[in-house]
Amino acid sequence: MKVLKFGGTSVGSASRMKQVYNIINNGEKKIVVLSAMSGTTNALLEIAAYLYKKNPDTANELINNLELKYFRTVDELYESKEYSSQAIENLKAHFEYIRSFTKKLFTLFEEKALVAQGELLSTMLFNLYLNERGIKSVLLPALDFMRINKNAEPETQYLREHLTALLEANADADMYVTQGFICLNAYGEVDNLTRGGSDYSASLIGAAVAADEIQIWTDIDGMHNNDPRVVDKTSPVSFLSFDEAAELAYFGAKILHPTCILPAKLAKIPVRLLNTMQPEAHGTLISNKTEMHKIKAVAAKENITAIKIKSGRMLLAYGFLRRVFEIFESYQTPVDMICTSEVGVSMTIDNDKHLNEILDELKKIGTVSVDKDMVIICVVGDLDWENVGFESRVVDAVKDIPVRMISYGGSNYNISLLVKAEDKQRTLQALSTHLFNQA
Ligand code: ADP
Ligand code: ASP
Ligand code: MG
Repeated sequence: MKVLKFGGTSVGSASRMKQVYNIINNGEKKIVVLSAMSGTTNALLEIAAYLYKKNPDTANELINNLELKYFRTVDELYESKEYSSQAIENLKAHFEYIRSFTKKLFTLFEEKALVAQGELLSTMLFNLYLNERGIKSVLLPALDFMRINKNAEPETQYLREHLTALLEANADADMYVTQGFICLNAYGEVDNLTRGGSDYSASLIGAAVAADEIQIWTDIDGMHNNDPRVVDKTSPVSFLSFDEAAELAYFGAKILHPTCILPAKLAKIPVRLLNTMQPEAHGTLISNKTEMHKIKAVAAKENITAIKIKSGRMLLAYGFLRRVFEIFESYQTPVDMICTSEVGVSMTIDNDKHLNEILDELKKIGTVSVDKDMVIICVVGDLDWENVGFESRVVDAVKDIPVRMISYGGSNYNISLLVKAEDKQRTLQALSTHLFNQA
């Protein structure tokens, strides 16, 4: 069985949903994972922001606008009165629930329940549409099988057992539709897999059912060799290894959720990135095959803080790095890039929630300096250290740009550079020109 995930743009209107129907209507049994219709998650978060600010009037206005959009979608989507009436009944119930948040205390708990409505709405509408078109599809509630633990990690055993039971209970269905992004947490509350997390849902589901393939359908023809929103002349990468794709996703290629490759990699399930608007395009196939000696793509991760700590006694000192990393560990703050020298170490973090506490602790063991508003630029490909020349090509591309850190050797798949946020665009452009677009 295949798992197909369609993102927000792919289900963003009635006509897009009809396109999705054309793609999936090929007689094969499959699991379809949907995001919220594009704009909905942002709208729900905006409503939440007004409710936090105790402004229910503006929240209600936004809710009315959102509701109108959904009623319009129903008008355009269904042919029969029978199905449109059922959809409208369901919409009314969802929006009554959404409005109930304007009348009570609003906390993070309520926000998570509110934001989950996006995926619940899109899957409800789409499943009814499939039924109207004569497909025996069944809506599987993600909240019945997707659960995270206290560390916000997915509970894969629980997922496998509960999803398998649901599939067995609905064995005669032609197709299954479920929500991406949403889950329950360790306390039984509604939660989610963080923004863009529907990709992660799809790969977790794919791994849980040992799918033949996981397809991520979006609004572009696969992973491009650079961020198409920032750089001219990007082109799709036909093949990536799991490791290359994981690096690109983690280091900012928005087309994939940062952690969505790992479940597929562990379960050895190929992942295909495909374009709903251009279904015949090859897209990107992510598998365990590596194309030798090729630099594949560049990505950028923003909002990075660099911290340097110098110790007078780093020379021949042992235990210094352990003490440094214990501080990050105790504040549950992951470190991304690391560069060391004889006198000190530089590290980057993207979560600066505990920055001040971390700095206070670090100052006890050395001299500390901080650079905020930095960007990690990550160059990915088959960069085995025995291959020669790729380092100089990368460094040559950025010869006019101030680089705060360079890191290579942590894996065979990436070189990372740390630059100022204001230099992000020209660094990405320079790398594209030098690495991919030279005559
Ligand atoms: P979806 O809503 O389908 O999940 P996303 O907006 O999350 O779609 O991801 C697709 C978008 O990712 C593309 O429209 C593109 O602008 C952006 N993107 C950023 N970097 C890349 C890249 N390297 N390759 C392809 N798309 C990228
Ligand atoms: N709807 C969620 C978001 O906008 C999840 C997703 O689209 O993947 O972040
Ligand atoms: Mg996405």
